[in-house]
Amino acid sequence: ADIEKDSNLLHIIHVTAEMAPIAKVGGLGDVVTGLARACLSCGHTVDVMLPFYECIQRQEINDLELITTYYSYHDGDWVPIKAYRGLVSGVPVIFVESSNQFFKGQYVYGGSYNELEAYLFFSRACLEWMQVTGVHPDIIHVHEWQTGALPLLYWDMYHLLSLKKPRIVLTIHNMEHYGECRKEQLGKCGLDGSIYGTEDKAVDDLTIGHNPERLSLLKGGIVYSNAVITVSPTYLKETLCSGWLASTLISNRDKYFGILNGIDTVIWNPATDVFLPAKFHAHKPKGKKICKHYVQRGLGLECSLDDNHVPETTENGPLIVCITRLVAQKGLHLITHAIKHTEELGGQMIVLGKASDGRIQREFEDLANLHNQGSSIRILLMYSEELSHMLYAAADMVLVPSIYEPCGLAQMIGMHYGAVPVVRKTGGLADTVFDMDDLSNHEMANGFVFEGIEEGSLNSALDRAFRYYRDKPDEWNSTVQKVMEIDNSWNNTAGKYVKIYNSVRVVC
Ligand code: ADP
Repeated sequence: ADIEKDSNLLHIIHVTAEMAPIAKVGGLGDVVTGLARACLSCGHTVDVMLPFYECIQRQEINDLELITTYYSYHDGDWVPIKAYRGLVSGVPVIFVESSNQFFKGQYVYGGSYNELEAYLFFSRACLEWMQVTGVHPDIIHVHEWQTGALPLLYWDMYHLLSLKKPRIVLTIHNMEHYGECRKEQLGKCGLDGSIYGTEDKAVDDLTIGHNPERLSLLKGGIVYSNAVITVSPTYLKETLCSGWLASTLISNRDKYFGILNGIDTVIWNPATDVFLPAKFHAHKPKGKKICKHYVQRGLGLECSLDDNHVPETTENGPLIVCITRLVAQKGLHLITHAIKHTEELGGQMIVLGKASDGRIQREFEDLANLHNQGSSIRILLMYSEELSHMLYAAADMVLVPSIYEPCGLAQMIGMHYGAVPVVRKTGGLADTVFDMDDLSNHEMANGFVFEGIEEGSLNSALDRAFRYYRDKPDEWNSTVQKVMEIDNSWNNTAGKYVKIYNSVRVVC
């Protein structure tokens, strides 16, 4: 017999271009998996719909099976599609595999097909799947510009056909990418591009200089979604005050919310982390010293031991890590300055970063050549999940000097691993790190914050952090314990998403 479903429980389908770990490029992939898992553990039904990228390693998917063969529209044709179901990190995923060239290639992004058209096709193919299978969730949760056309397709096409129940939630992880789209390109997914070329639909004045030929899928997504979320309360305020979408967001203020991302504490847990040479937690911190020593020795950095052969941390000064994509947003001139200043102060610093721009890559290669033979600085130009876990565990401080940062995961992960954050006051960094010397907010104090974008601002925060580390070891140790105990997990924050899902869902 059918067990009647608790009416408080929802069915949510995420439609996304990324999912960790099988198709992760940045924070988006982490968010989808972490939020999905937290909602599943509360009893909700959650599926993720993802393009079946050729680069996905099939052995990372459990119980993969073909579930539906159907057709979806693209550019005058009905293209055969196979939908597969499988489990990734315990989350049910529906993989959409098209028979055309879309999503082929070695990487998630940057294949030789037209990316914009591929995501338009994917957005429609997901709705088409819901229509042909009769799976009608309460919420379709879309992310970023790639799935920004789905709300348009839903309200102007599929809702007029058979899909009545779902409501649409959009999360914007980074406002920088707006999904610029010509009218005739939008036409390829079957929508009449000419009806969206107005400012109350998908054209935004600042981006495209009043050119009604150029649409923005992100703007269309904002206008056509039932709720729009961005990834921190401060980034929400920043995006309402300036930037190309400000006027759109102001006129949609009633349905626009800021919810801080969480971290996945199954993946990020220093007490169980398989990548670490020693485990630790807030009340058993000794393993952290072993991790620091292990990393110092492994990378040939200077390290001294005390009489008990325990690494003597304060002797060498603090170890600072910076783990980031090397792009302008992340404050590149501040990162390079921090390397120099840390050396002057007698500390150590490790940068783990990957540049996609050749000029930036060469600049950091030059820095690596200059420093990597010495005893205090290492610049590692690669992407390594494993190394990132070890570095967060080894670090006394984690540096995040971003020019802008919608949420930022590095400072939250760093704190969970006992690294005290040194950050620029922007976006999600301003919502998670509070200055040790701010006497009005001593209860929350957990790191060092600076405001300007010039080197002197960074110096003042780093200098203060070094002084605490060297001159006030007891206070430092209790700060380390405090940052490890802060709960920035999805368990703490997913409930805010569920509240918004509930506020827009249709109750039958
Ligand atoms: P963004 O999404 O803008 O890249 P976030 O701070 O939200 O920034 O998320 C970055 C994530 O990617 C973090 O989990 C960080 O540890 C990881 N990361 C960034 N660069 C590297 C790298 N070179 N190697 C390993 N992990 C990295």
